Amino acid sequence: MGELWRAALDLVLGACCPLCGEPGAGACRRCATALAPEPSPFTLGAFEVVAAGTHTDARRDALLAWKVGGEVALDALMAHQMAAAVLVLLEDGPSVGLVPVPTTRRSRRERGRDLVADLAARTATVLAEVGVGARVERLLRLTRQTRDQHALDRSSRRRNLAGSMRSSEPPRGVPLVLVDDVVTTGATLLEAARAVSRWGPAEVLGGAALAVASHPTEGIRSR
Ligand SMILES: [Zn+2]
Repeated sequence: MGELWRAALDLVLGACCPLCGEPGAGACRRCATALAPEPSPFTLGAFEVVAAGTHTDARRDALLAWKVGGEVALDALMAHQMAAAVLVLLEDGPSVGLVPVPTTRRSRRERGRDLVADLAARTATVLAEVGVGARVERLLRLTRQTRDQHALDRSSRRRNLAGSMRSSEPPRGVPLVLVDDVVTTGATLLEAARAVSRWGPAEVLGGAALAVASHPTEGIRSR
């Protein structure tokens, strides 16, 4: 028992901020402050999206460490960022269903987990702490494995994703927010919205993301 306790203590003392190396668990106060959410609403056509910030500087570095570097110590920080974006869409609604966009098998293998689904789950916990009844609604699945979007231009991304998602029937009477990590062209969120709306007029408030590309491409309009 004594050894276990020491091992647990070592885990804490050995931990440091994954962004600057400051000792402690998770992101330190300074880094978290530098990443304070600045939710920016914009629209993709008629679809409303709120990102916690732009995909630049410290936020871009943090997202890279989290997504590519596998820094699970940043999970809590990312969940707070996402909660801030969701709250802008929700205004003062008492409850929300968070719908993660689906992950390809390749991405799940590379990351070792379904990053967006895990993010949605942690975000629901953060929202509950501020009195919002949030639950994850895993409505969406891929009907085929899509290509890695990174090297694709805007029209190729749209073609790559067109018809790639299917949605289960959304719950009635629960406003929904579609959750993604980074919005580049918006093709993923729009495909997700299309799939959910096939069931009729579900109450989709919009999409929420951790960041939006710094130079939004044609079709994205600031509000
Ligand atoms: Zn730090």
